[in-house]
Amino acid sequence: MTEVKAYGAQDKEADLKEMTIERRDTLPTDVKIKITYCGVCHSDIHTVRSDWGPSMYPVVPGHEIVGEVIEVGDEVSKFKKGDLVGVGCLVDSCQECSSCESDLEQFCLNGATWTYNSKDKHTDGHTFGGYSQEVVVDQNFVLTIPKNLDTKAVAPLLCAGITTFSPLHHWGVKEGMKVGVVGLGGLGHMGLKFSHAMGAETVMITTSEGKAEDAKRLGADDVLISKDKDAMKSHKGSFDFILNTVPVSHDINPYLELLAIDGTMCMVGAIEPLPDVHGGNLISGRKSVAGSLIGGIKETQEMLDFCGEHNIVSDIEMIDMSSINEAYERVQNNDVKYRFVIDMESLS
Ligand SMILES: [Zn+2]
Ligand SMILES: [Zn+2]
Repeated sequence: MTEVKAYGAQDKEADLKEMTIERRDTLPTDVKIKITYCGVCHSDIHTVRSDWGPSMYPVVPGHEIVGEVIEVGDEVSKFKKGDLVGVGCLVDSCQECSSCESDLEQFCLNGATWTYNSKDKHTDGHTFGGYSQEVVVDQNFVLTIPKNLDTKAVAPLLCAGITTFSPLHHWGVKEGMKVGVVGLGGLGHMGLKFSHAMGAETVMITTSEGKAEDAKRLGADDVLISKDKDAMKSHKGSFDFILNTVPVSHDINPYLELLAIDGTMCMVGAIEPLPDVHGGNLISGRKSVAGSLIGGIKETQEMLDFCGEHNIVSDIEMIDMSSINEAYERVQNNDVKYRFVIDMESLS
């Protein structure tokens, strides 16, 4: 075991503070990574606060990890010392169930091991995330970062990026399609960039007119203000696909009316009950409501390679580790454009 510095919360009301955690010794297929940057995801806050059921404390969040390989186990073939790598939301899975065999480790039937707050197979405790100096991860869950991208701004691709890329990719978004992105935050801003890069006509769907200019800069061809009834009517039945990134419960019926025949709306933000869906909005037009959770390791690498080719990174604001509690306040107030990234040097 190696002791490393980390930042975490001791209970659901506590601020995050510096602490010491232990990382396992590098096993034969493990990669040890010196963490240089870690993105701040809304899920970090939900887990710290036990919003999704009781968390295991201390919680050391962080699943948008970028760093440098500093040690590899004897059997590691995919990475070597000095490689620039990433780790996202997953650090392990059974590797033998039908989901794992289909490159869908996030849906491992025996339970995936999440990067933080998951039972750790190798210790008696639970996993600790990227708000720390180092992490040790099996090589099969480590990703290669394209060298041409701004490393700091790559970090959020590991969660916000794959969360939005995967559904757009799965539902075959391409030139000739009309795609709506609902909500402009950490997820929505990535959705706009990807949809635009995939060649689709991309429309930002938002409640606030103030976001129009930024949405266009990020890749939207048009902006639809959802409070404007006439505008909503003029787009009725015209969208092939809608990516809904709104992080809280809301009425999805107005968006279903925007879908074309055989259109799909995919939910990626709200992990909570949604108000009633009117069956007519699905039946009339053979429409679907779907959901999507991050992506498997193979697809996450495809997303990173796509970003390398298209020069896509996240729009970020850098912070020091000690500013994390203020950053959480701002994330909750939607006051960040569009993702905080922690400079992990500030923890040394
Ligand atoms: Zn996340
Ligand atoms: Zn599995």
